[in-house]
Amino acid sequence: MYSGRGERGLRRRIIAGNWKMNKTVDEAVTLIADLKGLVKDATDVEIVVSPPFTALGAVREALRGSNIELAAQNMHWENEGAFTGEVSPRMLRNLGCMYVILGHSERRTYFGETDEGVNKKVKSALLNGLLPIICVGETLKEREEGKTEEVVTRQTKAALDGIKTNEAERIVIAYEPVWAIGTGRTASADEANRVIRIIRSTVAEVFNSRIADEVRIQYGGSVKPGNARELFGQSDIDGALVGGASLNASDFAAIVKA
Ligand code: PEP
Repeated sequence: MYSGRGERGLRRRIIAGNWKMNKTVDEAVTLIADLKGLVKDATDVEIVVSPPFTALGAVREALRGSNIELAAQNMHWENEGAFTGEVSPRMLRNLGCMYVILGHSERRTYFGETDEGVNKKVKSALLNGLLPIICVGETLKEREEGKTEEVVTRQTKAALDGIKTNEAERIVIAYEPVWAIGTGRTASADEANRVIRIIRSTVAEVFNSRIADEVRIQYGGSVKPGNARELFGQSDIDGALVGGASLNASDFAAIVKA
C-alpha cells in the first residue's frame, strides 16, 4: 500500500499553461517572446505551454533554445482516418509536442468526453510518445453531495485502466476541481493537498507505491501569483495547470518562480 510520504525528491515540479481557445498566431508568438526572458533562469521546474492547435507550429519555432516545453490541449486517439476536424497524436508529435492535456473538464462538459474516451486517449498518447496530463476533478454539485473522493477516484482509475506499470511514470495528473476553474475560487491549499493525496493513493492501488511516489500531480483552478506559493508548499502538490493567468507573461512567470 502507498505509504503517503510524498517523497518530493523524486518529483520535479511542473507548471503548465493552458491557453484554451485564446491567442492568434501573432499573439502567441508575442507571448512566448515575453515569457522566454522572464523564466530563462528557472532550472528546477519544468515549464510547459499549451497553445491552441493553430499556433502550435509557430510556438514551437518561438520556443527554440528555451527551457519551455510544448503541449497540445486535446487529441483524437486514432493516428489517422476519417475523423473530420480532429487532430491525431502522430501529428502532435510531428509538430514537436511533448505533452498533451487530456480529459479537461471543459472537454468533458461541452464536448461529451467520457472516462472511457479519456482512457483511449491516454493509451494512444503513451503509445505515440506523448506525455499525458490527465485532468480529474469534481463539480460543485458533486462536492456538495460529498462525492469528491468517489469522483476523483473513479476518473483516475478509468484513465489509468490498462496502462502498463513501465509507462505509468510518464503520466502527469492534474487535480482540477471544476468549481475552481476560471471562477477565481481556489481550493484551499490544505484541501487541494488532501484530494491530491487521495489521487496518489489511487495511483498506488492501480500500480504500486513507487509509482505513486513518482507520478507528478498538479493542482489547477484559479492559480494566480498570489496563491501559488502556498499551494506549492504542500507535500503532494507538484505544480499547477494554469488557465487564465497563463495568458499573461508576467503572471505566468511569477507562478513559475513561486
Ligand atoms: C484550466 O483551465 O485548466 C484552469 C485551471 O483554468 P484557470 O486557471 O483559469 O482556473
